[in-house]
Amino acid sequence: MMGAAGMRIVFIGPPGAGKGTQAVRLANQLQVPHLSTGEILREACRLQTEIGAQACQTMAAGGLVSDELVQQMVATRIEEKDCQQGYILDGFPRTLRQAEMFDALLAQRCAVLDVVLNIRVEEHELLKRLAGRGRQDDDTMVIKNRLEQYEILTHPLLSYYLDRGKLHAVDGHASPDRVHAEILQIMHQVSESKGNSCSN
Ligand code: AMP
Repeated sequence: MMGAAGMRIVFIGPPGAGKGTQAVRLANQLQVPHLSTGEILREACRLQTEIGAQACQTMAAGGLVSDELVQQMVATRIEEKDCQQGYILDGFPRTLRQAEMFDALLAQRCAVLDVVLNIRVEEHELLKRLAGRGRQDDDTMVIKNRLEQYEILTHPLLSYYLDRGKLHAVDGHASPDRVHAEILQIMHQVSESKGNSCSN
């Protein structure tokens, strides 16, 4: 799937939907970097960097860290050489404001976001999956908070991207292999209809 290699792709989904797993698989397939803001933040916490100092407590409580902070992280990361042939964003944007800031960032570079993949999984299934994952931010109260944050802050992004013709829904209940296959099919369709990034 050569055409899909130069694409900018966003994964959206509630915590536990499997977006991390699927984003990594697609990144390997397309040979583009996988950018997980959650992973970058967890690493910053571990290393107790300046970003970490601002983000760790919020993350541990299941809240979202500030839009400006993640925006800055992403803006810096996508400037790097390995991102010039496309990339996959996993966990960003997560608020409407982040989506708007990201669009502005891309427009400055005469670039476009090609695809938003929405991995859909029902809440009772998410709760089951999250309870078994064992991450520090996966205890019951924190899980509840993370799902709430998703509903309130991230869910509105779906209509934002639907209105812009970018949104593709993926059934996240199926096996990881089937979910991956569905994503490849979507990517195939999108890459066939992809135009050039900038017309002005
Ligand atoms: P994730 O690994 O994507 O589930 O992210 C783990 C945690 O990192 C989230 O619960 C947030 O606290 C924080 N985080 C990751 N990405 C973002 C983002 N785009 N905006 C705000 N907070 C984020």
